[in-house]
Amino acid sequence: MRDPRPLATPSTDGPPWTRRHFLAVSGGGALAAALPWSWNGRGAVDWTAVVLGSIQDGGLPQAGCYTDRCERARSDPHYVASLCITEPSSGRAFLVDATPDLVRQMDLIPGDSFRERAARRRPFEGILLTHAHIGHYLGLALLGREALAIDRTPCYCSARMADFLATNGPWSLLVEEGRLDLKVLMPDRPMRLAPDLEVTALPVPHRDEYSDTFGFVFRGRSRSLLYLPDIDRWDAWDRDIESVVDAVDIALLDSTFYSAAEVGGRSQEQIPHPLVTDTMRRLGHAARSGRTVVLTHLNNSNPVLDEGSPERAAVLDAGFAVARAGQRYAL
Ligand SMILES: [Zn+2]
Ligand SMILES: [Zn+2]
Repeated sequence: MRDPRPLATPSTDGPPWTRRHFLAVSGGGALAAALPWSWNGRGAVDWTAVVLGSIQDGGLPQAGCYTDRCERARSDPHYVASLCITEPSSGRAFLVDATPDLVRQMDLIPGDSFRERAARRRPFEGILLTHAHIGHYLGLALLGREALAIDRTPCYCSARMADFLATNGPWSLLVEEGRLDLKVLMPDRPMRLAPDLEVTALPVPHRDEYSDTFGFVFRGRSRSLLYLPDIDRWDAWDRDIESVVDAVDIALLDSTFYSAAEVGGRSQEQIPHPLVTDTMRRLGHAARSGRTVVLTHLNNSNPVLDEGSPERAAVLDAGFAVARAGQRYAL
């Protein structure tokens, strides 16, 4: 697996200093890169994307699944696909999809400042939702009054998703109580989330029972990241995935199934996600030429999850990375 790009190196004229920051400078590059530091010394901040999970909605282990893979995961759980865009020195954080694993995933968000904010019931500057399938919004329930009871927080999503949340319990209670402040994102229109951070929503074709589906492109000062955990098929999209990936620095992409063999040999038209083998064919050049292409949203049946499997080796040899909770990408 390729390493995430290193975090920005701290300089000496930043905001209030702590001993840890001093150590980051005096201790040299390796230590500095390992610390959650994002001040660039010129008054701007650098945002960091933190992978909070990488599994399809059903999780790993999955209920009623007793394969070796799921049994191993019972003592080493992987979390459902999700992302956080954070600025660790201030603790500001945007959550991208709220999964059923949210409680443990919040522990992966770096910085004491984040914990202080969470303890004050305002963990997130905003929550962005891709769509209304269980892995992507059920975690909102853990922010309601039976649990954290968050203070008013902007929730960015499509118009249809906002309507779904506002008109169906228990989500509507979060809206009525003023905990979620629904903000509709217009497709393809960049929106500033914070200084040095903007997001653009891309509509993608997907099983749209309750809502339509977005992917997101985040742009920081230095790099851009595409987050696209669910799509039916690359060739069902009205845009070319190679061009979309070419236009960003980092892409985290729907990799639910590895091959058709995994889903009983059904034809690709019958499988509601792109196959990793298809993604490798389309994006192999991008991955080999230095683009960071990361596989995420892996189903519990996907052999890429197994360390040492030939499928995982093939993916890594082709220059792709596999998402795992805790990975960081500087934006
Ligand atoms: Zn999903
Ligand atoms: Zn979905």
